[in-house]
Amino acid sequence: MSRGWKSIQTLLVTSVQRLATEQKLQRLLEQDPQQALRQCGLSALQTKLKDLRVPVNQISVWLDDNALFMPHVNSEVSNLPIPAILAASGAKPLALLHGPARDLAAILRSCESAGLFGCLGPQEYQVYSESGRGSYHNLVQDQIPSRGMSNAWRTLLVSVDLDRVVLGYLALLCSWDSYLGELLGYPDCCAKAFAKRWPEAVAKYEGDVATQVVEDSGQGHWDWRLNILLRYSGCEMIQHFPCSFSCKKSIKLAKKYELSLTQYAPQLAAEQKKKLAVPVLYAGKLGIAPLVEAELQSDNSWQWNGVKTQALPGADKSLKQALRQGDSKKIKKFIPKIKIVDFSITSKNNKYSKKYKGVTCVS
Ligand SMILES: [Zn+2]
Repeated sequence: MSRGWKSIQTLLVTSVQRLATEQKLQRLLEQDPQQALRQCGLSALQTKLKDLRVPVNQISVWLDDNALFMPHVNSEVSNLPIPAILAASGAKPLALLHGPARDLAAILRSCESAGLFGCLGPQEYQVYSESGRGSYHNLVQDQIPSRGMSNAWRTLLVSVDLDRVVLGYLALLCSWDSYLGELLGYPDCCAKAFAKRWPEAVAKYEGDVATQVVEDSGQGHWDWRLNILLRYSGCEMIQHFPCSFSCKKSIKLAKKYELSLTQYAPQLAAEQKKKLAVPVLYAGKLGIAPLVEAELQSDNSWQWNGVKTQALPGADKSLKQALRQGDSKKIKKFIPKIKIVDFSITSKNNKYSKKYKGVTCVS
């Protein structure tokens, strides 16, 4: 057992046991979470939150090696996912990944080799099947305490800071959502906007908040680093939904991430830029879709060769179908109706920053 495992497990066993059973500590947690978590041996994040509570009768969790680390799984993942690279570089204080348990356990092995601490989250989830979303899931149907015995959908926490892994675990276990956002380093404006948008995202957009972000941001030349529309294919720079594509805190964070990624994985960073800097169709009520692999031409127009792409949830059937088929002729019919949210133009010195001509579809 690695030193990290033993420390994480010991801290978790002690803190979960104490938080679930000691009423005095529970009261202190509500009034002064900082102090209460410190009493559990955790150097808590400076936080103004005062409403952390333990769901006393609902805590049910497995804290053995298997549930926390799945030690029987070997690493076959040589390249770390972007959030883990950002955590390893210190740009991200804590990374939260989602996926099938065995994949996550393999990623954890690689993270440990890279000097990170980590463990799998407390629950396993039954997920909605969302066609065309790859392994990505926005909504969960049900959750149970995981024993680490199956390849169910789970979460993984990794950080250079062992305490932060344990605090992230407690936040997942007790549904301290705001605190988790803070631990993950998400801007507070974006965390608040997410909480506000979530009920509508569930009701209308299969739990995908991106549509609301596009609607609220409006048309513009947005920083490509904030393009969160391609995360289904593992392509992303930030891991949160920004309150708006003009959110200054998110842009600052995204630039910091890009710098780290460029330093640690230059090729991956360049690939992200190429993939994320694409125009996005905004066809009003018909829906929204990133035009995958569209390229800016020297005459300042966009060329899209009909590479198959997918509309965001809630889009009209006709648009969805045309996109699925990569049918540029059909897509072209939507062009007169659309606005374009353009992620690619960022730099003040960029010669394309003043004007653009829109999308040209080429069959
Ligand atoms: Zn924000």
